[in-house]
Amino acid sequence: MKKNLFFLAALTLNFVGYSQDADNEYKVLFIGIDGVRSDALQQQIANGNAPNIKHIFDTGMSTYDSWNMGTTSSGPSWSNMLTGVWQSKHGVSNNNYTGSNYNTFPYFPKRVKECRPDLKAVQITSWAPMSDNVYNDGWNNKIIVPTDDAATQVAINQLQDPQLDLLFYYLNDCDAAGHGNGFNPTVTPYMNAIAYADSQVGQVLDALEARPTYSSEKWLILVCTDHGGSGTSHGGNSNDERHIWWGAAGYQIPHMTITGSDPGSFTFGTPPTPAAIQQTPVQTDIAVTALNYLIRDSLCVQSHAAAWNLDGKSWLVQEESTAGLEQNKVFSNWKISPNPTTGICEISIPNATDESTQIAVCQLDGTTVHNTTVSSNSSNQQIQLDLSDLTSGTYLIRLTTKGQTTSQLMIKQ
Ligand SMILES: [Zn+2]
Repeated sequence: MKKNLFFLAALTLNFVGYSQDADNEYKVLFIGIDGVRSDALQQQIANGNAPNIKHIFDTGMSTYDSWNMGTTSSGPSWSNMLTGVWQSKHGVSNNNYTGSNYNTFPYFPKRVKECRPDLKAVQITSWAPMSDNVYNDGWNNKIIVPTDDAATQVAINQLQDPQLDLLFYYLNDCDAAGHGNGFNPTVTPYMNAIAYADSQVGQVLDALEARPTYSSEKWLILVCTDHGGSGTSHGGNSNDERHIWWGAAGYQIPHMTITGSDPGSFTFGTPPTPAAIQQTPVQTDIAVTALNYLIRDSLCVQSHAAAWNLDGKSWLVQEESTAGLEQNKVFSNWKISPNPTTGICEISIPNATDESTQIAVCQLDGTTVHNTTVSSNSSNQQIQLDLSDLTSGTYLIRLTTKGQTTSQLMIKQ
């Protein structure tokens, strides 16, 4: 029996109906690296100086073309990423966190616990305001450390806890190097700080994979920054301050590299349009992707979604068969390319069956906009779709064969 996806208008949260019992195998490592300009990270990855972040990008979804769409300071930016709502809702516009509205729009661990009360969530940060000025956040433990090296060591220790479900691990020194020397790819101390942060991420990823229970757990790894910088500061509207990056890798995360243009800012100039937000991985998506990943009880989510009033969208691959993704080998390696696409794209299914395959292109509200049925006895199907007529935005491409359906996100530019 198939389950139908249900779509939550505007939120595009698509939840899968797993049993509550299976929840504790879904876990998230959320790596926050403060103040890393997109062009600087891109250069360090290209130069081989950030192999660990590169590994996350190479296996999951990633973008160097995300933009901070609010105030380019840490307080509001991390609030976007940890609440899943924009500044107009969480209320944080500065690093003193004055105006915060976390009682109405809390951090996502608090939301997860409404459906998964046993979640064990730990935050490690060397930037005290993020701990001291935030409330209603759902952390079981908020650990303030003096240095990034200490944060890394504490993260490694915390990852030995078999009960741990969610770890937020924060590194501050790239931002400090930018303030001290300049936020710029031409500034050696800044670039060295990025390379060093990557090596610390590598130590934490090693600790994650060394968990005795790792093979039976399903980890999502998120890595992101809050803002870039210009000269020795940030907080303003320049492209160098607003242009950011992030990545997500793990079970059910599609492998996609997203490029795109600036969708605009809620704080400076013309606000982004909904279509522009749909095409871009944006900061509020990070919290919603993590939330979506950690909660498998779709009925619980359904009963809370209106009250949560989240802004972000999830980047999980949608799995609609009760057989579960692992048993559903038919489509395990199918790909959409190019993705994002401007018009013509190709669906390739390496292990196609000899039965017909139905391909549907759906809007995120569930409306089908394109439908094709392909009959083939080839074991390697390549199907071209002309999507030139679609308006720009994010869509689901759904394949159905032998009573099984899987979906992937597709960006139309
Ligand atoms: Zn800063």
